[in-house]
Amino acid sequence: MEDKELQNLILENLGGTVKLRPLAGFEMDFSANAGFRKVFFASSCDCGVAALLSVEIDESKTDSDIGNALPSLVERLERQEKAFRNMDCSMHEMMNRGRVTDTDS
Ligand SMILES: [Zn+2]
Repeated sequence: MEDKELQNLILENLGGTVKLRPLAGFEMDFSANAGFRKVFFASSCDCGVAALLSVEIDESKTDSDIGNALPSLVERLERQEKAFRNMDCSMHEMMNRGRVTDTDS
């Protein structure tokens, strides 16, 4: 299964209120896990900040394995999306500046 097909499959199974858009794969490997492939999605807030969400799947999985794993992949993305949306926009703004903490004085 191609990444694109997998993304579409995930998108079709997301809950109705969850809005994600598929992102093309990155050449750069963000994942420290060899043997896993990652698919990426973006979620954006009304304030204009977007979050990069991803799930990873064992590369050795067959299409039917992926089908079986789909509910948990979808759930993981929905959780990430929810966490992003539950943050308030001042947090989003900080993420946008690449600063996750505000502890420095
Ligand atoms: Zn926001």
